Amino acid sequence: MLKGTSASPGVAMGNVLVVKKQQIEIAKKLIQDIEAEKKRLSDAVEKSKIQLNDVKEKALGSMESDKAQIFEAHLMVLEDPELIDASMKKIEAEKINAEYAIDSIENMYLAIFADMEDEYMKERAADIKDVCSRIKMNILGIESTDLSALDKEVIIVAHDLTPSDTATMGREKVLGFLTDVGGRTSHSAIMARTLQIPAVVGLKDITSRINDNDYIIFNGETGEVIINPSSEEIEKYKKLKSDYEQNIKALGSFIDRETMTTDGRKVEIAANIGTPKDVTAVLKNGAEGVGLYRTEFLYMDRSTMPTEEEQFEAYSEVLKSMSPRPVIIRTLDIGGDKKLPYLEIDEEMNPFLGLRAIRLCLDRKDIFKTQLRALLRASVYGNLRIMFPMISNVSELLEAKSIIEEIKAEFDADDIPYSKDYQVGIMIEVPAAAMISDLLAKHVDFFSIGTNDLIQYTCAVDRMNEKISYLYNPFNPAVLRLIKLVIDNAHKAGKWVGMCGEAAGDVSLIPILLGMGLDEFSMSPISILPARKTICSLNYDDMKNLIERINDIETPEEIKAYTEKTINK
Ligand code: PEP
Ligand code: MG
Repeated sequence: MLKGTSASPGVAMGNVLVVKKQQIEIAKKLIQDIEAEKKRLSDAVEKSKIQLNDVKEKALGSMESDKAQIFEAHLMVLEDPELIDASMKKIEAEKINAEYAIDSIENMYLAIFADMEDEYMKERAADIKDVCSRIKMNILGIESTDLSALDKEVIIVAHDLTPSDTATMGREKVLGFLTDVGGRTSHSAIMARTLQIPAVVGLKDITSRINDNDYIIFNGETGEVIINPSSEEIEKYKKLKSDYEQNIKALGSFIDRETMTTDGRKVEIAANIGTPKDVTAVLKNGAEGVGLYRTEFLYMDRSTMPTEEEQFEAYSEVLKSMSPRPVIIRTLDIGGDKKLPYLEIDEEMNPFLGLRAIRLCLDRKDIFKTQLRALLRASVYGNLRIMFPMISNVSELLEAKSIIEEIKAEFDADDIPYSKDYQVGIMIEVPAAAMISDLLAKHVDFFSIGTNDLIQYTCAVDRMNEKISYLYNPFNPAVLRLIKLVIDNAHKAGKWVGMCGEAAGDVSLIPILLGMGLDEFSMSPISILPARKTICSLNYDDMKNLIERINDIETPEEIKAYTEKTINK
């Protein structure tokens, strides 16, 4: 039995697929036998063809047949004589090893493409990069796992899963995820909750303790993982799985209920989403809106920036299907642990403190403006709320707002329609923003507190690092005081305030947030019904009193215990 951090609830049982990923190191070597070296290359090309045809077929047969096009494009690159023939000639002329030859030809093409503006050419460059890396891995005999076209149901075990892994994986075949690293708010954990797939993260060395096809059981709620379980254990977990599923069914009576305390305070429960597809789960769980649409997923799993038109389609789709309910769409939050393969950002010592989110957007106004244009155009289809991430001072907010005004003037001149009723808000996820929330409140319609980052920045504790995850705690009095300050400052300025960090769906924290006066709680769809059930059972006045009483309690553990004792009385 292993124990990790619970990332997404539910019990999963099944066979394992271990995801292998390795860095490829390419060194130049002089060789003697030119023919043997050329054969290494041609064998690797053949192997790549077989692999690509195979994943293409699987993609065609799956629910995500649109992915087949990507593999078709890769097959075309493989057929391109300019790439393979040129590498063969290089082996001959320079008597060098196959992997170095193809690597040099690849770099030559990428350098040519790098200066081109044309979208088609940029896409070709990304295809070349993918195909060459496949060939190099095959030359070197390095295995990697392709998650995009799974042909049977599996539990994925990986060192870590990047957001683009989770975006490309064949979701309907994934029974659960287990990872060596990561905490509750790492993006793979958030993604698992959004997809309602059970997951445990921070298992340290599970990838080295387990092999493909081992049978495994795990409980996403407790973080317990059993490798090759006994038949008694299997029976026990089957029962747990069916109890869990029954409990979920029982919560069904809260789907259409108003979210109101026993003494009549009404709050809103909204959902966090990553793609328009997630709206199905949002509606199924009875959310009153979308409190966070993380648009960065629209920019991932592809080789070029999404165009204004593509973004307009995605945003309109979400607005239409949620209308008249509100939808908070957050502008691009790239940087930190979320990278784009086609957007070069210089190496940074501390990416979470670097050119991330609004900082990147204000630095790359071309990218930002395209997104804001798409958002404003989509605004006519529903109840739009635009939100800027990672604001840390008033100037950033004013600059971002001025770009919206610039676009509106252009739209007015060109007769492009947009709604006049949208709201503009910011995430409060940097302690500096919380401290000056009184100043920021004057310039926004709302705040949404991003506790995932607010905790990491307030307590100087990396949200991804399981070694210090004991310090990452939303009940930390320092965090609670900042949250209270933000809510008080928003209300003093007559603005509403929500929370879209994972803490908003934590049923043991909800009494405190409610007592502080939080107006909107936005969470993974999976957390909505348990949260509504909790709020409907609480008395607002009692929770306000609770806030007075926890003020002097010194540790997160004692605050949590005191809160649980109070509400269970
Ligand atoms: C947060 O920081 O709380 C948040 C919601 O944003 P993300 O998790 O995408 O950084
Ligand atoms: Mg954040």
